[in-house]
Amino acid sequence: MVLLNDGHALPQLGFGVWQIDNARAPEVIATAMNAGYRLIDTAANYGNEASVGVALRRMNLPRSQLYVTTKLRNEDQGYDRTMRAFDASAARLQLDVIDLYLIHWPCPQRAAYVETWRALIELQKQGRVRSIGVSNFTADHLERIIHETGVTPAVNQIELHPAFQQQMLRNIHERYGIVTQAWSPLGQGRALDDPRIRAIAERSSRTVAQVILRWHLETGSIAIPKSANAARMAENIDLFGFGLTSNDHAVIAGLDRPDGRIGPDPAAYGQMRILRRLTRRFLTT
Ligand code: NAD
Repeated sequence: MVLLNDGHALPQLGFGVWQIDNARAPEVIATAMNAGYRLIDTAANYGNEASVGVALRRMNLPRSQLYVTTKLRNEDQGYDRTMRAFDASAARLQLDVIDLYLIHWPCPQRAAYVETWRALIELQKQGRVRSIGVSNFTADHLERIIHETGVTPAVNQIELHPAFQQQMLRNIHERYGIVTQAWSPLGQGRALDDPRIRAIAERSSRTVAQVILRWHLETGSIAIPKSANAARMAENIDLFGFGLTSNDHAVIAGLDRPDGRIGPDPAAYGQMRILRRLTRRFLTT
């Protein structure tokens, strides 16, 4: 478990459900829960909150043993829209209280992330969300919401894997007491081919995925790997009983690359869609 700056805690390993479609989600989530995962990471944008809700209800675990993260869609930013979008997400998940609610992307060109953050603060005050945080926020976005509202996010969920380590942003997180959550912790599978990590895995009699996930845990991040395969799910949670040496850490630190990012750049993401919509409106008026 990792302690957050609001006094709550989250498991350090979770299960991501992006790209797991509605038809398969209940079965995949049941397999993950049986393997031991207790933190489920979804988002309104993944289109599978309702099946996550069905799966969790079927598992019938005590609520205190379950941690559910969901995220606000970019299109729902803004104070009132956020309040409504939260109600819709909670209804789809069949939960009265969400454990962690995140602003999915800052979308700075919408100029709405500060008021959106105020809505999350209000939801937390009302007791509808246990912890509030953000995703894909850069240092500038983080500092703006902290300085304008006085409330520091508990978590920033960011792209983080051996080829893209975001050390400067992680230093900012540490300065403000923000927990780093790593999305695409296995680099969407690309990190698994690295011969230097394979050498560490062979020496430790572990798999490459286990070495990478163990690296996330030892560097203090929460990792949320995704797999729809039962054997891999079990492999990805079997991270205890071994450790990495300082030399292993140095080897992995050396794999960081300036061009290692896989996903979009948060400073620009969301802009294209708005530009397209404005261009369409201009051309049709
Ligand atoms: P990931 O790094 O978890 O990699 C998933 C890929 O690796 C899949 O193809 C899977 O089959 C493969 N894999 C998993 N375990 C393996 C193993 N043991 N051996 C071999 N292959 C294995 O990438 P992801 O799915 O992009 O990210 C995980 C989660 O992060 C998502 O499900 C989602 O919840 C979250 N996420 C969040 C954002 C965001 O903007 N906040 C963006 C992307 C993903």
